[in-house]
Amino acid sequence: MAADGYASLQDVQIREVKCSTPAGAAFSVWLQFNPKRIVSTGAKVDAKSINSRRCFLCVDHLPPEQKGILCENEFLVLCNPMPIFPAHYTVSHVKHLPQFIEPYLDTFLRLARDLSPKFTIFYNGAQCGASAPDHIHFQIAPAGKIPIELEAVESQRRERIGEIDGVAIFVLRDLGRAVIVFEGTSTERVTRVIRRQLEKMKAILDIADEPKINVICNYSTPQWRVILFPRHKHRPEAFFKDGDAKVVISPASVDMGGLIITPVEKDFNSVDANMIEEIYREVSWDEKTVRKMLLV
Ligand SMILES: [Zn+2]
Repeated sequence: MAADGYASLQDVQIREVKCSTPAGAAFSVWLQFNPKRIVSTGAKVDAKSINSRRCFLCVDHLPPEQKGILCENEFLVLCNPMPIFPAHYTVSHVKHLPQFIEPYLDTFLRLARDLSPKFTIFYNGAQCGASAPDHIHFQIAPAGKIPIELEAVESQRRERIGEIDGVAIFVLRDLGRAVIVFEGTSTERVTRVIRRQLEKMKAILDIADEPKINVICNYSTPQWRVILFPRHKHRPEAFFKDGDAKVVISPASVDMGGLIITPVEKDFNSVDANMIEEIYREVSWDEKTVRKMLLV
């Protein structure tokens, strides 16, 4: 499976789409035509479908050939047989526990540090692109392959909101979607601030569960950078349409990060700037709500 998946990466096609914000600022995204990803992009993630399938991340259900690297006695690093990148791993808990990042934030940050400088770690919320929303897992990509990682350090995009507990908070401008960035040098402090951020989002949105989020994290000595996408919804309306009107784009961290996976060739060829701008607008929180969510 993995050999097939990696071999198919040879045939993957990439296309740049130049987009703009309503105010006229330019940004780019890249489409990746990757037919193998239909399993993940098209995954049924409703409670009924999840309850009736066998969890593919549970240790007992892994293919017999699957080896893993045990981290902190809790997480296994596994190869992802349907890769988006030339190195793409899944980090799943050894136990079947639900997809919430909050209890594992410090592990997530330590993994980011241990994986640096070659790799970046990311998290898709249970309602935001995780294809196993019932089993806590992260993913690993080669560092710098998700466009937002580079955009997050472009000074003209960074608006510094303030600092809490030694952790600097920014929003990124002119990207057509909501992005909040946290930078700090202490695991404890960054963990604490992100926890507070999630609590604040819950309060503003008046919800009890984890807010819809995608999180990308990298580490460059001595600093963590956590890129958070606050999401209004998981899939755009176009995903649920029939026939030619259907667009199989199901945004998760990588897509929100500017590399949009299109498993269907028709979509890869036909998706244009207007459609990308609309999808981002639809699945992101609006500016006003995001400002209310900020800690400072
Ligand atoms: Zn499981």
